[in-house]
Amino acid sequence: MAVAIYTRISHDKTGNQAGVERQAKECRELAAARGLSVTIEHSDNDISAFSGRRRPGFENLLRDVQNGIVDTIIVWHPDRLYRRSADLELLINLVEKNRVKILSVTAGDFDLNTASGRAVARTLVAWSGFEVEQKADRQRSAYRQRAESGAWPFTHRPFGYERTKQGIVQVPEEAAVLRDILTRYYEGGEPRHAIMRDLNARGILTPQGKPWGIIQLRDVLMNDRYGGLVKHGETVLDAPPLWEPIIDRDVWLGWRSAAAARKRRSTFSAARYLLTGIARCGVCDAKLYVKHRSSGLGRAYACSASSCVYRSVTAVDALVSEVLIRRLSLPDAVSVFADREMPLEWIREATALQDRLDSLAVLVADGTLNVDGVREAAKPLRKQLQSVQERIVAHAARAAVPAELLAGDVRAQWEALPLTTKRAVIGATMAVTVHRQEHPRPFDPESIEIRWLPVTGLSDDT
Ligand SMILES: [Zn+2]
Repeated sequence: MAVAIYTRISHDKTGNQAGVERQAKECRELAAARGLSVTIEHSDNDISAFSGRRRPGFENLLRDVQNGIVDTIIVWHPDRLYRRSADLELLINLVEKNRVKILSVTAGDFDLNTASGRAVARTLVAWSGFEVEQKADRQRSAYRQRAESGAWPFTHRPFGYERTKQGIVQVPEEAAVLRDILTRYYEGGEPRHAIMRDLNARGILTPQGKPWGIIQLRDVLMNDRYGGLVKHGETVLDAPPLWEPIIDRDVWLGWRSAAAARKRRSTFSAARYLLTGIARCGVCDAKLYVKHRSSGLGRAYACSASSCVYRSVTAVDALVSEVLIRRLSLPDAVSVFADREMPLEWIREATALQDRLDSLAVLVADGTLNVDGVREAAKPLRKQLQSVQERIVAHAARAAVPAELLAGDVRAQWEALPLTTKRAVIGATMAVTVHRQEHPRPFDPESIEIRWLPVTGLSDDT
């Protein structure tokens, strides 16, 4: 099996390939560091709104994966690989059938074969998604060009730097504080709250002359520009910075990807109960959390917003598991729940709609249409796109039900699943609502409402 490098540069206004070359070089270095030898390189350059939306390199890459030629893809950043949910779902669909590892230079490894890996990828693409791409106004492209030349556009002075006639320069005493707290946070694992208390105790103020708040501190700790990254929005550009970084770029990238990996692990493994964050309050619709030793119930699911509902964790978990096991044991379960191939025309439809939306944005950038006109024209397209995307995401959610769960002894298989998988299956198939009960004891199963989510194609008759 082969290792492929995929590079892409968008908005290549200069028309030079430097960006792609630099990406490719760093990808090759990553391959070498992992002991992999690269045999295939695919690339797309100048995929701007003006040159249409075809990405021949990307399509060739997908074909290689589909044909089982490639089993490892190396990219500079995952956003090089997929910019839109449709691209990502296409990739996920392929990757599920042909196991593929995705390694990235700047954001660690992505495992689209796991539910958590896919969830992370989807979250990322949702952020950098099409809404952002659609805003093709001139202001943004002007900002972008400035960013591409290595500028750091700011209106409020960031901690550690100031703008002078010579450009953006470090404020020495603040730069020293930054080096200290960034190291303590990323290397020492010191919690944000502790760092915030320390700064405030030492009388170190924000650039606005105020004590530190936790959100401001978080923004400082995550500011990639301290690591010398030139950014436009959330996109990291290939340009060298016009300021002197606080932290060496390689060190910074290492810190950030380690932190992202830690966060991924904690997001998906933190839950200790079957239904926390999944089940909802029947009174106010807030999510439920687990309260210990509540009114003699032992551990209880409780409304996280107010004290609307309490119910025994053991009783609710047993009921919900039982309903799911019974449903998955029915003869039609395989045909209803098993992952089917995603219809390709959904992807094509989504891509076509996206292209039409994009071309509208181009008309604004051209000055052919005004913003209001485009907004009107875009409305029905956006509605259609949303409906296709919902279908695509719903279809992907169905993949949360592992095939082995449907084969043979469902009950035994279910008991053997790890908690995270159980939670993923329940989250993808059921909506659980805990209604108010006059007295929390005895447990009344009728007070638990279980609705099958539409992905399963089931009716509400359970
Ligand atoms: Zn409530």
